[in-house]
Amino acid sequence: MKNRIIVTGGAGFLGSHLCERLLGEGHEVICVDNFFTGQKRNIVHLMDNPYFEVLRHDICFPLYLEADEIYNLACPASPIHYQRHPTQTTKVNVNGSTNMLGLAKRIGARILQASTSEVYGDPTVHPQKEDYWGNVNPIGPRSCYDEGKRCAETLFMDYRKQHQLGIKIVRIFNTYGPHMHPHDGRVVSNFIMQALRNKSISIYGNGSQTRSFCYCDDLIDGFVRMMSTSDDIIGPTNLGNPNEFTIKQLAEQVIELTGSKSRIDYLPLPQDDPRQRCPDITKARTELGWQPTVELKEGLIKTIAYFDGLLTEDPNL
Ligand code: NAD
Ligand code: UDP
Ligand code: UDP
Repeated sequence: MKNRIIVTGGAGFLGSHLCERLLGEGHEVICVDNFFTGQKRNIVHLMDNPYFEVLRHDICFPLYLEADEIYNLACPASPIHYQRHPTQTTKVNVNGSTNMLGLAKRIGARILQASTSEVYGDPTVHPQKEDYWGNVNPIGPRSCYDEGKRCAETLFMDYRKQHQLGIKIVRIFNTYGPHMHPHDGRVVSNFIMQALRNKSISIYGNGSQTRSFCYCDDLIDGFVRMMSTSDDIIGPTNLGNPNEFTIKQLAEQVIELTGSKSRIDYLPLPQDDPRQRCPDITKARTELGWQPTVELKEGLIKTIAYFDGLLTEDPNL
């Protein structure tokens, strides 16, 4: 069935892959984005498709459209971006989500929230299951994002309770791939850009902290499965790759795959940086039949090729 689907944050890293996937399935897609961290480059290849529309709009303001489904991804995701505008980050999660829920309520659309592993904060339980309530600092440098996303989950659950809205919540763990912003400060993009330029690789702390990296195509598949499951499966559901690596291992892997001459530089660890992060994806496996299929090495090769292409186009990037 052909649906009309709104993707907020559709010009961002994940949103652009989602728009492409949905168009590929024959749906009509409306990308709503204020281009705060999104880039035209991510969606330019979709512009010729007559079933693709782009709306420059900040979802903190009301939006009146008609659609069957809404994927709510609008929110800066990298620490340097969201910490640059912390109040705006909380607002997009609270006011922006409220508007999208109000829109979904008016038009009777199903709505999916892109939540995050950050709702677990610096976790004291490992790996993280959905019933863990988290260890979050409410007033630290990451709070605008963590608490904003936690409040958005509350809003989604309460719109369901109060208005019987068809909601879905996925908690995304670190995801990487083509279309990441080259200067978003996230570890995968930083390391690849540094390695391709033979510049020092910046490890924060001693590199023993862990993350689990999911390739974007796997994650988008999880989104689409979640949206199409029955009404009673609402989440929150973890989506991520359970293979855990230290940041030092990631640096070594990137150096090897790029054949770089980069050396490793150890820099101070940022405040409130989670020590360990790894999803328990039992729920996604059983309820969605989903699990990641792309190994880190395979995903890194594709991501390196993307960044290499960007640098060939513009060596001063
Ligand atoms: P991104 O920064 O590349 O994309 C976010 C998009 O939202 C951008 O295009 C930006 O311009 C847009 N946006 C921001 N504020 C907006 C507003 N007020 N109105 C309209 N558009 C707005 O980030 P991403 O990595 O693609 O993340 C997408 C979503 O997934 C975010 O909600 C993020 O919190 C969540 N997420 C991502 C990851 C990850 O590893 N990439 C992990 C956990 C959660
Ligand atoms: N809203 C929107 N588009 C719509 C319907 C509502 O942007 O099509 C916004 C509206 O501005 C409101 C918010 O969504 O601020 C929440 O709407 P809801 O109906 O839940 O709340 P109420 O208007 O009753 O406060
Ligand atoms: N990190 C690092 N060097 C960098 C960027 C990040 O060592 O150039 C570390 C960071 O301190 C964190 C991990 O890599 O421990 C993942 O950071 P990212 O910002 O990608 O995501 P998040 O902290 O939100 O998981």
